[in-house]
Amino acid sequence: MPYTTIAQLSQGLKNGTFSSRELTQDVIADIKARDHLYNSFITLSEEQALAQADVADQRIAAGEAAPMTGVPIAHKDLFCTQGVRTTAASKILENFVPPYNSTVSQLFVDAGAVSVGKTNLDEFAMGSSNEHSFFGTVKNPWKLDAVPGGSSGGSAAAVAAGLITGATGTDTGGSIRQPAAFCNLTGIKPTYGRVSRFGIIAYASSLDQAGPMTRTAEDAAMMMNVMAQFDPQDSTSMQMATPDYTTSLNDSLAGLKIGLPKEFFEAGLNPQVAAATMNAIKQYEAMGAELVDISLPNLQLCIPAYYVIAPSEASSNLSRYDGARYGYRCQDPVDLMDMYCRTRAEGFGEEVKNRIMVGTYALSEGFYDAYYLKAQRIRRLIKNDFVKAFQQVDVIMGPVTPSPAFDIGSKTSDPVAMYLEDIYTLAINLAGIPALSTPAGFVDGLPVGLHIMGDYFSEAKLLNVAHQLQQATDWHMQTPNSI
Ligand code: GLN
Repeated sequence: MPYTTIAQLSQGLKNGTFSSRELTQDVIADIKARDHLYNSFITLSEEQALAQADVADQRIAAGEAAPMTGVPIAHKDLFCTQGVRTTAASKILENFVPPYNSTVSQLFVDAGAVSVGKTNLDEFAMGSSNEHSFFGTVKNPWKLDAVPGGSSGGSAAAVAAGLITGATGTDTGGSIRQPAAFCNLTGIKPTYGRVSRFGIIAYASSLDQAGPMTRTAEDAAMMMNVMAQFDPQDSTSMQMATPDYTTSLNDSLAGLKIGLPKEFFEAGLNPQVAAATMNAIKQYEAMGAELVDISLPNLQLCIPAYYVIAPSEASSNLSRYDGARYGYRCQDPVDLMDMYCRTRAEGFGEEVKNRIMVGTYALSEGFYDAYYLKAQRIRRLIKNDFVKAFQQVDVIMGPVTPSPAFDIGSKTSDPVAMYLEDIYTLAINLAGIPALSTPAGFVDGLPVGLHIMGDYFSEAKLLNVAHQLQQATDWHMQTPNSI
């Protein structure tokens, strides 16, 4: 049943057009038949999925179904799934089977959704292209020799190829929005603290946030209704009620003030991407919105600040992979130090090792003040820019990425060129605000995303704004040629 939506599947299940077991069997057969083209899945959990489907069918028959009951989804392989291998796309966790669920995975189980498997990613979510995976590069369904974006590239490719209607992702510096933009999806990074991080393998804890990747804003709202819950197991989880994100999708946008930061449209932005982005933004004028020029003066500092803070936190978070407790252990260590060193040397990939080295250096005595502390100060300046901007406007819009999806291999030898990919997305994580990417047209046959950013906890407004564009345009309904 390729190229449908969560909303349609939910309706079909409710009406009895098909059972969750039939649907799940269909989805798994389709993944087995077609995913060799994309490499979007690392692990399929067929047995568990069918068992979950049977439970869902019973709930539906008993009239106890929630909107996501019986709907197949997939999880980025960074979310711990009880009894199902969780690798972070790393050799060091190649055979790790968690004894517990992340809060997000558990919430989907409780909602009756069916998890068919785990999607590919850049190792430990470090990357913008999904080329840094122990399980191989993921292909973009829109152009098979282009990257799908990263790090949630497997989730993005799977949804774009119609293998699954919704998947989870995580976004530390753009990893939901950038692949969503490259693959023509809706992907939302919620406010830091809105979705629990418990049981999600940590990259940079003060930046990481989980969110849905779907074809439509309506589907993203349905997934957010499940995911966005207070969790006492995550000390940064906000104790606040969850709105029903689907009820405000059709709110009028008359009078909406849209801020256009000049720094988002300066040199470095591909002119065709700029034109597509502006064309999408203009649609809002017809809906009664007003465009306001604004400035985020410290935006250009986001790359150096992020690439100090994120590796610093990563170097600390990844110290737990030492071969002692779980995960990969090197063969025949001669002593404890040899075991630590070789386990980590053999278990981590190049990009992860680079970042551990950078982070360890930045945190070391004598350099801490010069790098880490300074980066934190810049972070505050960036946050203040946004706080000021939201006194003037309701949402901010701009491009998600400087160019459409690039070819596989074209940036792997130049890490700085790869890091520049994140110029528009990183600041959002540094500030902790929510933002999404929604389809905004095509450049040379490749999708372009519109970046919509909002004030803290304005996810319902962002989904409303994206949904209204999706009512007025049909970019999000286009399908790639490879399917
Ligand atoms: N591309 C960024 C990085 O490599 C962001 C990754 C992410 O959001 N997980 O760190």
